[in-house]
Amino acid sequence: MNQLLVMKFGGTSMGSADRIRIAAALSAEEGRKRPVVVVVSAMSKITDLLLDSLRHAEAGDREGLAANLRALEERHTETCKALLPSDRSAHVLPRVQSLIAEFERIANGMLMLGERPPRSVDEAVSVGERLSALLMAEYLESQGIPSVAVNARDVIVTDAVFGNATPLMEPTREKARGALLGHLEAGRIPIVTGFNGATADGRPTTLGRGGSDFSASILAASLDASELWIWTDVDGIMTADPRLVPDAAVLDEVTYREAAELAYNGAKVLHPRTLAPLVDKQIPVISKNSFAPEKPGTRIVPSVSVPGGPRAVTSMTNVALVSLEPANASINGTRLMARALEALATSNAEVLAFSSSSYRQSFCFLVRQAELPSALESLEAGLALELAHGYVRPIEVDTEVGLLAVVGEGMRGTPGLAGRIFTAVSREKVNIIAIAQGSSELTIAIVVRRDGLEKAVKAVHAECRMGERTSAAGALLGTVDGA
Ligand code: ADP
Ligand code: ASP
Ligand code: MG
Repeated sequence: MNQLLVMKFGGTSMGSADRIRIAAALSAEEGRKRPVVVVVSAMSKITDLLLDSLRHAEAGDREGLAANLRALEERHTETCKALLPSDRSAHVLPRVQSLIAEFERIANGMLMLGERPPRSVDEAVSVGERLSALLMAEYLESQGIPSVAVNARDVIVTDAVFGNATPLMEPTREKARGALLGHLEAGRIPIVTGFNGATADGRPTTLGRGGSDFSASILAASLDASELWIWTDVDGIMTADPRLVPDAAVLDEVTYREAAELAYNGAKVLHPRTLAPLVDKQIPVISKNSFAPEKPGTRIVPSVSVPGGPRAVTSMTNVALVSLEPANASINGTRLMARALEALATSNAEVLAFSSSSYRQSFCFLVRQAELPSALESLEAGLALELAHGYVRPIEVDTEVGLLAVVGEGMRGTPGLAGRIFTAVSREKVNIIAIAQGSSELTIAIVVRRDGLEKAVKAVHAECRMGERTSAAGALLGTVDGA
């Protein structure tokens, strides 16, 4: 379909009746010019509330669950009443209540069992997005703009990794086109739930926290969209998290690879897997602020004229550094690494950074704290014999660490850069624990003590004068292919 635009609105952009009105107006405005598919997150903080409710249920805490359900109902009924004319709201409120009842039914099941099966969590938690999609579609309809709420369970086909599912692109393409093109041809704006999908045999799944960005990119790729706009609460992708670095500046343009590295290394503004479906078709993404729609935002494109040097710095807490070391010469260090990596590959943990030293052949790697138990279980199983015979020292785990990553296509072949970055960190008296840089020279990852992380981020941002050089207009180094 020609010129199709996919737009995604995040939690804050859907956070109240006023915000939903603005999101709807932005959708309608583009919808007058070209076909538009909208993807919505749950209202801000609702997914946290739903997950917290399920934890109360598992723990048998009836009162905690009831209090959360009241909060859930209050927020959505109030929004519904404030958003819609009273005759329409009278007709929509029972549908809001029935979605909340659906959630309650699953939560009650958990309460009875004292268990929280991941599959049921996924089914329950998608209610947040189903509620916000319903409200947005009904509001558009009330404004005379044909619209329909669509549950992504009927659109996105995934594997069965509950809580962190991966889309199966071929069946998704078929299903998405079947579910959405008819609406577009009939002039309706589909409002699709972000975050969720279902396996081919219909079991509900979710794509991981913050996954609505990913939902939108999956749909953009499946529908051969010409653009994807991601509406959020900041002016675009910035040189650092503005909550950490007040003088962070908006980047005009970044490459897919830069954006993916930033997201992967902790920049919450994009879900780490968002870019992957778009690269083949080179579908551009624009990250925009729904609180200031007139601002241009950041364009994420295959390649940009790079102004040279690092472009942005990110950080990540809630990580853990796992260290391994041969105890003596009876085990070859490389073999130990191979065994450890093999074991990790069978776990659900992702290795965020890996670093080794030559003489003692000790090595360490960084994982998310949430994935640490799975990583350790696999390592202990995979290295059971070596550990039992004392060939390997006991596995060390440090959770008081943080990751800082400096990203930029223009860092390639820039001598002296790493030195400046490390000096800036050490000037703040923050100890560097481990360093990793891939040969692509796109990212330098540094593991530091957790309590020094924020200082280190600010120091690197200032040292590299990132806040001053956001425009690709002053490019010196020519074009870099980022696809
Ligand atoms: P949404 O609900 O719209 O998906 P998120 O809260 O997931 O929004 O992401 C937006 C937030 O990401 C911003 O409010 C900002 O604090 C944070 N953030 C972290 N790093 C960056 C960065 N480099 N650029 C912009 N925002 C960032
Ligand atoms: N609502 C989901 C979450 O909070 C997905 C998203 O907002 O992208 O994780
Ligand atoms: Mg987000």
